[in-house]
Amino acid sequence: MPGFELFGEKEKAQVQDVLDNGVLMRYGFDAMRNGHWKAKELEAVVSKRMQTSYTQVVSSGTAALTIALASAGVGAGDEVIMPTFTFVASFESILAIGAVPVLVNVDDTLTLDPDAVKSAITSKTKVIMPVHMCGSMADLSVLKSICNEHDILLLEDACQAIGGSYQGKPLGSIGDLGCFSFDFVKTITCGEGGAIITNNEAYYKNADHYSDHGHDHVGTDRGAESHPFLGYNFRISELNAAVGCAQIRRLDEFVNIQKRHYTTLRDSLLTLPEVTFRRVPEGGIENYSFLNFFLPTEALTRKAHKALGESGIDACFYWYDNNWHYYRKWEHLLGKKSLGRLPKDVLEGMPDYQNVDFSASDHWIGRTISCLVKLSWTDEEVKARGDKMKVILKSIF
Ligand SMILES: *Cc1c(COP(=O)(O)O)cnc(C)c1O
Repeated sequence: MPGFELFGEKEKAQVQDVLDNGVLMRYGFDAMRNGHWKAKELEAVVSKRMQTSYTQVVSSGTAALTIALASAGVGAGDEVIMPTFTFVASFESILAIGAVPVLVNVDDTLTLDPDAVKSAITSKTKVIMPVHMCGSMADLSVLKSICNEHDILLLEDACQAIGGSYQGKPLGSIGDLGCFSFDFVKTITCGEGGAIITNNEAYYKNADHYSDHGHDHVGTDRGAESHPFLGYNFRISELNAAVGCAQIRRLDEFVNIQKRHYTTLRDSLLTLPEVTFRRVPEGGIENYSFLNFFLPTEALTRKAHKALGESGIDACFYWYDNNWHYYRKWEHLLGKKSLGRLPKDVLEGMPDYQNVDFSASDHWIGRTISCLVKLSWTDEEVKARGDKMKVILKSIF
C-alpha cells in the first residue's frame, strides 16, 4: 500500500518548486509564488481522477472526515453509523463535532452489514459512514438506497481504498461526500494530508471555509475576508501538497503494481480449501492494497498468523487483536475516557459499548488475516512469498 516506498525524483521536483519560492502556505502571497499553487493543483487533479466536481485538500484524513461531517451540517447529538472494524479516526471525527458514534456490525465484506445498519437507524441518524477497509468496499448500492429511503447522508471513508471503484465509479465519489487520507502509510502520501470530495457545491464551500477558520476566501486581502460561520484550522501546507501532486499522478501505476502482486499471492492460496477470501460486492474493483482471507476457526487463524510472522512473512495483520482497528481494543472509547468532560449529548446518546454484543463482527474478524501488498517487492519476491505462505498455511491445517 504505502506510496512512500516509491518516493523519488518526481516528488522531490514538486517540493523543490515550493522551496524555490518559499511560500509554504496554500493561501495568499500571490506575487511571491511564481505560479505555484500546490494545494489547489492537487485538488484539481483529485477532482479529475475521482470524477467529482469539488475537492478540498486538508491536513489529514481524520480532518477530512471531521470537515465532511461538519460541512453537511452534522452536529451535537446527531447519530453517525460506523463499523466495528475501522481505524479510530472514524469515531474521533464524529466525537470532534459532538455527534454520537453508533457502532454497527460488519459482514464478510469486512465493511458495514446493510441489515445491521437498517436496525441501527433512529430518528437521530444523520449519516451512514461505510469504511472501505483494506482495499475493498462496502455494498454501496444497498447502503445508498437505505440512505435515500430514510433521508440520511452517505459518507464514504475511502482512506484505505483510493483507486478502487464500484459500478464504474471511483470509490469516494459514490456517496454525498467521500474522504481520503494521504498520511505516510497510505497508497498515495503527502507525508500528512487528506481530502474531501463531493458534487455538492454547498458542502464544498462549507468545507473550504470550515478548514480555514471560516474564511470565505472572497477578494485578495485575507485579513479583510468575512467569516460566515465558525471554523477551525485544518489547512495542509504547500510542502505536503507538493508531494501529493507527484503521488496522485502515480495512483494508477501504484494500483496496477498492487493488483499484480495481490493476484500472485491470491493464486498461491487458491488451492487451499481451508482458505476463503473476503467478499467483494458485485460491481466492485479493489485497489488491492491488502489480500484479505478467512480461515475456518479463530484458533487456526491465530496459529496461522503466528506461524506466518515467525517465518518472516511480515505485514500480515490479525485485526481481531489489534489495538487500533477493531472495537475490542478501543477501551478508551468503550470506557468514554477523555481528558476533559465529554459533551452531554455524547454521554447520554452513546450506547453502553461495554455491554453490546458484536459477536456477528467477531465471527468474521476473528478469522481474518490481512496481508499488506507492498509496492517495492519484485515479482520474484512476491512469487517466493506466495509459495512460502502456502507451505506455512498447509503445515498448520
Ligand atoms: C488512515 C485512515 C484514516 C485517517 O487518516 P489520517 O490521515 O491518518 O488522519 C481514516 N480512516 C481510515 C480507514 C484510515 O485508514
